[in-house]
Amino acid sequence: MKIPFVDLKAQYLGIKEGIDSAMQQVIDETAFIRGKYVKEFEEAYAEAYGVKHCIGVANGTDAIYIALKMLDIGPGDEVITVANSWISTSEAITQTGARPVFIDIDDHFCINTDRIAEKVTERTRAILPVHLFGQSAELDSLLELCRRHGLYMVEDCAQAHFAEYKGQRVGTFGIAGTFSFFPGKNLGAYGDAGAIIINDDDYATRVRMYANHGAKVKHQHEFEGVNSRLDGLQAAILSVKLPHIQRWSELRLQHAKQYNKLLSGIDGVEIPRLKENCRHVFHLYVICVEHRDELQVYLKEHGVQTGIHYPTALPFLNAYRYLKHTPEDFPLAFKRQSEILSLPMYPEMTEEMIVYVADTVRAFYEKSDN
Ligand SMILES: *Cc1c(COP(=O)(O)O)cnc(C)c1O
Repeated sequence: MKIPFVDLKAQYLGIKEGIDSAMQQVIDETAFIRGKYVKEFEEAYAEAYGVKHCIGVANGTDAIYIALKMLDIGPGDEVITVANSWISTSEAITQTGARPVFIDIDDHFCINTDRIAEKVTERTRAILPVHLFGQSAELDSLLELCRRHGLYMVEDCAQAHFAEYKGQRVGTFGIAGTFSFFPGKNLGAYGDAGAIIINDDDYATRVRMYANHGAKVKHQHEFEGVNSRLDGLQAAILSVKLPHIQRWSELRLQHAKQYNKLLSGIDGVEIPRLKENCRHVFHLYVICVEHRDELQVYLKEHGVQTGIHYPTALPFLNAYRYLKHTPEDFPLAFKRQSEILSLPMYPEMTEEMIVYVADTVRAFYEKSDN
């Protein structure tokens, strides 16, 4: 059996007609930039989240950068974020001119809220939590920290479309929620795309203008911005996919529960912990294991493709060498980076496939030499 890590073709085949006709329409109307399809998606996404504004941008990295930049975060400022994420999170902070301040992870791979207060300085302006793998960070504690220290919260929801914390969607707790629609994300375009959701009218206007060269009305540039657009084709594709997202999330959750059942009780394998009161949307299904690299090779030899998210925690990347961090600064992130393994996870997986992956993992640990 061959099991890919994700299968975007399988998803496409399930919605082919809708996608094909939506793309054809955009082309027929040459509605490539801005226009009706972008507006339609922005409105539908804002409505789905129950927020006032959704601003489409070129990708999820820009979404974070623009959200921070329009809070007037820049040189001399610090933004607190988590040690384990995709580099976009910290890169976007640096792009504004501010400095990323990393915090170790908790048992759920999200920012450890007990470690934040000690890192707040007079330069701290915002906290940027990441709902990593599709599970919410501890938002009550984060909001309390923001209140106490007068900080903004921008939520990086790139892996957590429609995830919930105590019945409320993540991305709606902070001043802004940022999303990536990179093809492999839970809601994915057919190229790069991203969005920012916001309730505050003035802030939303500035974000929209900044993403559009600082202009609200064509040729009237109030300030310099950037060119960061969600394009018509991507928007039309996302509009076709949006009505399916709840069902897809539910399937991911079911698959994860099945994996959890099949993988529990194997010596050397730690399954992901589901938080109470949270809806995990399992962008990634990540186990912590002994002999990780050998297991990954074994799975590959048996047709199972896996990933590692991420092999080097952010503070230990060469890009952040200048911060001079050591493993003791982030003990859990450091320990986890050599244990984590992401197993295949996408809605179209069958029960048979999950059983095969789990059986193969079990077989590895039951071989006499392990
Ligand atoms: C994918 C991702 C991003 C960036 O999204 P792009 O659309 O690729 O720019 C940001 N943060 C996290 C946690 C991500 O997983």
